[in-house]
Amino acid sequence: MSNSTRQNSPSATGPLDDTKVRSLLQDFPILARQDGEDPLVYLDTGATSQNPSAVLDAERDYYEHSNSAVHRGAHSLAVTATDAFEDARRTVADFVGAAENELVWTSNATEAINLVAYSFSNASAGLGGPEAERFALGPGDEIVTTEAEHHANLIPWQQLAARTGATLRYIPLGEDGLLDEDAAQDIVGPATKVFAFTHVSNVLGSVTDVPRFVRLAKKYDALTVLDACQSVPHMPVDFGDLGVDFAAFSGHKMLGPTGIGALYGRYDLLKSMPPFLTGGSMITKVTMDEAQFMEPPMRFEAGTQRVSQAVALASAVRYLDEIGMENVHAWEAELGRRLAEGVSQIDGVRLLGPAPGTERAGLVSIDVHGVHPHDVGQLLDSKGIAVRVGHHCAQPLHRRLGINASTRASAYLYNTTADVDRFLDALGDVRPFFG
Ligand code: PLP
Repeated sequence: MSNSTRQNSPSATGPLDDTKVRSLLQDFPILARQDGEDPLVYLDTGATSQNPSAVLDAERDYYEHSNSAVHRGAHSLAVTATDAFEDARRTVADFVGAAENELVWTSNATEAINLVAYSFSNASAGLGGPEAERFALGPGDEIVTTEAEHHANLIPWQQLAARTGATLRYIPLGEDGLLDEDAAQDIVGPATKVFAFTHVSNVLGSVTDVPRFVRLAKKYDALTVLDACQSVPHMPVDFGDLGVDFAAFSGHKMLGPTGIGALYGRYDLLKSMPPFLTGGSMITKVTMDEAQFMEPPMRFEAGTQRVSQAVALASAVRYLDEIGMENVHAWEAELGRRLAEGVSQIDGVRLLGPAPGTERAGLVSIDVHGVHPHDVGQLLDSKGIAVRVGHHCAQPLHRRLGINASTRASAYLYNTTADVDRFLDALGDVRPFFG
């Protein structure tokens, strides 16, 4: 048994409470960091999460004991590396309700969404033959997305529309801070070829009714692409059950390392979709004129792969699985409630998105009247509290909310209610401080 398997257990499992979360903290060395007088409160997981030692150990263990090129080489070290890589794929696929041949490794969610958009683009240019016609777009076709998207799930579709002559439409945000699901009924229609939407908004914390959107898309035979970046790390997610055609997520937001993410694709779709990146490791036969491609998922994994990152991500998934995603979700819902109710009680602070009491992830974004988010962030930082400030890669959404930027506090399984209270106390000092 390798070290990574042995050292994978979290220091607490089962339903989470403050005591158990305090035990978990010993698994995260970076969270012991202290820059000023106050210990660090890390409330920026929406941007990137921290890694337990088990994940760091798994990556090091891979390099110490298994490192080699995968799917090549006849020597036993290459077989060990390939086994570790494919074992990681099985673990992560299983975690999101996918078959192992439905999970394509990418660098991150951004690359996963671009992979789909560029594959559609290639199909639109006639690559992939008649089999790929399903993915071809042209004038008269429509791509639908929403006003609440991260740029990663907006710009690839803008670019695809520009390359193919298709039209980009979007579902607006309603006055209640949620996507206008009634408007969606009018916007998604016979011309819709692709419907791309987020599962959980990285700004609002709101949760999309995915089955409802999937039913709507299926009515018109449109393909669905789910941005699951803010859901997979925080709640049980089963892409097969949700019925989406494609989905994207990033390892670094779910206790894993940077440089690894994944695309889920229904196998029958992946099988007929032309590749995006081409080159080594994804072909069966090459002549000077043409190439034949491997079956998915390797057709979409050109070049040397991110093996240590995949192995470490699998370790993160095992860590999460041992705690139980239902437990992670329940704890974060509690923190999200506390955050939403707390900020709503502070004078001059506007909670963006759904009102307290509505289902939300463990995050809040706020506008502090008369104080620039960068000033808010700096004051919080001086008290040891790390939050994100800016537009959070969602400029159109901020424009819709009538602001340029906001302050976001986002929690994870390593945050206590005391962390939330320290954030709320410090936030209460912001407007008096800036006068
Ligand atoms: N989608 C959402 C909702 C996100 O929150 C993020 C990251 O912030 C992304 C996509 C892009 O993720 P990455 O930068 O890891 O590709």
